[in-house]
Amino acid sequence: MGRTLADAIHEKLPQLELRENEPLANHTSFRIGGPAKAVLFPKSTDELRRLCGLLRSLGEKPLLLGNGSNVLAPDAGTDRAVILTVKICGMSRLGDGLKAECGAALTRLAAFAAAEGLGGLEFAYGIPGTVGGALVMNAGAYGGEMKDVVLRTVFLDGELRERKYEGEDHLFGYRTSAFKDGEVILETEMRLHKAEAEKIREKMEELMARRRSSQPVELPSAGSAFKRPANGYAAELIDRCGLKGFTVGGAGVSEKHAGFIVNNGGATADDVKKVIEHVRETVYERTGTELCQEIRIIDG
Ligand SMILES: Cc1cc2nc3c(=O)[nH]c(=O)nc-3n(C[C@H](O)[C@H](O)[C@H](O)COP(=O)(O)OP(=O)(O)OC[C@H]3O[C@@H](n4cnc5c(N)ncnc54)[C@H](O)[C@@H]3O)c2cc1C
Repeated sequence: MGRTLADAIHEKLPQLELRENEPLANHTSFRIGGPAKAVLFPKSTDELRRLCGLLRSLGEKPLLLGNGSNVLAPDAGTDRAVILTVKICGMSRLGDGLKAECGAALTRLAAFAAAEGLGGLEFAYGIPGTVGGALVMNAGAYGGEMKDVVLRTVFLDGELRERKYEGEDHLFGYRTSAFKDGEVILETEMRLHKAEAEKIREKMEELMARRRSSQPVELPSAGSAFKRPANGYAAELIDRCGLKGFTVGGAGVSEKHAGFIVNNGGATADDVKKVIEHVRETVYERTGTELCQEIRIIDG
């Protein structure tokens, strides 16, 4: 048998955790996705850098994932190596702010900020993503977004050169940023403000309760399937078109929140795509509004 990618990685990075033919369904919040030829779990930004360099020298174009909470992975899996950042999760206080590594979970980071008496990240409590995914998406909720708190970010560009964005360089917009495919976010610094830990916790719990009462958190999904259109809310338009509960196979528009597409059990990526397509077409025909997808579809 020929040398596999795993053999080549083991030789140069023997400590790196690696799983071959690992289903992406195990690493996406939709619980959908066939096997990746290798799923890789670097544990530090330094290991991530070395891994990216090695994969490049082997002619690989890896797919980077944080918590897989904003993606739809292909049923057939992928021939790309997939790097999961969730084990690179350091966080520390830096003056009246924080420094966080790319794989740090937003909810844990917000709880850490609260414990440090630092306010400003309450909005992120309950968003099931990592810092890297949240920067790429400019994640936000309940009136707050990453744009409000991020000061500077260190990343590798497409040529794996280390670069830094400061403030407006990030080009944060509604669920968009300057980060492009092939770039690798390593860590970021945030500016927060001093506040009473108890008050911060109260706010976070209030937002979590709102989330639990309005979102189908008990079913696998990737959050809001569509971006907010200029003239209203996607969920409201979808509901108005009578699409709540519309299903294809195992995927359907949530009965609880029409902006979410959920995996009711055994959904395939194809089912989800068909639901997205039907919703977009129906909403356009009946209201004239074009819905744009927020979920990122991985092509393979
Ligand atoms: C129940 C539920 C509720 C949600 N609520 C919200 C909400 O309130 N607000 C909101 O904005 N979103 C929400 N989301 C969507 C999602 O959690 C966010 O977009 C989150 O920021 C994605 O982070 P992630 O680590 O899961 O990213 P992933 O889904 O893993 O990746 C998202 C994108 O970022 C890229 N990426 C990830 N890490 C890196 C890195 N280190 N360097 C470069 N690129 C990287 C990936 O390649 C991909 O293109 C929700 C999702 C669910 C399932």
